[in-house]
Amino acid sequence: MEEEVEEFRPGQSMVNGWCLQESSGEESEILESSLIRRTTGDKQPSPDCGTDSVKEPSAKSENTIKENGASMRELSQMVQEVWKNSSWWERYGVDWSIFGLAFCMLPIGFLCLRSQRLFVCTLGLFFLGLVHFVFTVKGGHMSSHRTLCQSRTWSKFWATFFMEVCSCVPVRCGEEGHVKMHHGYTNIIGLGDSSIWKVPYLSCGIYMFVAPLALPIITVLVGVKYVTQMPLVPAMRSLFCMAFGLWSHFQLLVHASGLSYSSALGCMFLSRALLATPFIHVNIFQHIGLPMFSPSNRPRRLQLMTNAVLNLPRNPILDWAFGHSIINCHVEHHLFPHLSDNMCLKVKPLVSKYVCDHNMPYHEDTYMSRLHLFLSNYNELMVQAPPIAHLVEFH
Ligand SMILES: [Zn+2]
Repeated sequence: MEEEVEEFRPGQSMVNGWCLQESSGEESEILESSLIRRTTGDKQPSPDCGTDSVKEPSAKSENTIKENGASMRELSQMVQEVWKNSSWWERYGVDWSIFGLAFCMLPIGFLCLRSQRLFVCTLGLFFLGLVHFVFTVKGGHMSSHRTLCQSRTWSKFWATFFMEVCSCVPVRCGEEGHVKMHHGYTNIIGLGDSSIWKVPYLSCGIYMFVAPLALPIITVLVGVKYVTQMPLVPAMRSLFCMAFGLWSHFQLLVHASGLSYSSALGCMFLSRALLATPFIHVNIFQHIGLPMFSPSNRPRRLQLMTNAVLNLPRNPILDWAFGHSIINCHVEHHLFPHLSDNMCLKVKPLVSKYVCDHNMPYHEDTYMSRLHLFLSNYNELMVQAPPIAHLVEFH
């Protein structure tokens, strides 16, 4: 029997994990969707195992998880050692250098938009769009997990800045929707099963390529709707921050870039929609199509996360704009959500080796492979209810 789930929080001793229950221990096979791509099996474990995604639909019985003595506590202790031996630069500095670079790109982007040349204007729009996603996705995500720094006060400040001012999403909304539900109940049907990303009445082409462009507007509407459900004082504070973010963006485009009101609104929309399509894709690629579990019979944390999370390969733009924990270290992020992006990257070889050595799944697939899978199986993945998977229990 695996020990009680442990979760490593930087700067603290080992603490109990959250939101996980014991599995029933039934020795049943994994009843997976034939669409699930597995990167485990009877191969020799190796640090980089799983890099070659299984391209054929997986067989059911082959994927039965075997007893292997893997322990979240043991893995957490190994990760904690790495964290202890890491410098401030590795823990926080590398990620802050990316935010610093993004802050430096802001004036360049606004000034480029003053140009009469189409190429320079387009470049300015690209810079502003990139910075927007660094702030909203990488910054919003890291601040929601409080992985930007160890100070509670500064963590709250950055969460307010990146989520409310830049992303137009109330901090509470981000924390409840992402940290508590998505992370606490990853791929648990009815809770963190990514159904929030499904829009069954939209056709495949519209959902995958057109609807994401409405994300800048949908985000504001969702944020305002959430504010209406909050208590008055925090609601007013969040609403002020969100309005301040939109107003500042608009004013900078009008005064720093010299744009008309209509052009400023157009540029706001275009820069906020720049990476909206890959953002939606990444969110559905990394969980949907992998095993889903029922709330009453779900595996322990280590099993849950290794089965229900997938890593995409590194990509210079997406790594920078979304962060490693969302792109190529998503498995590590779900196991250790209190590690910064750069620390997730640092512990990745250790985590992948441990997982593979214990013959557990370590899902990896390419962006284009996942895109092809979703385009060819849109109905099964995005419209129909997902099948429930069952795992044998670790001992
Ligand atoms: Zn997260």
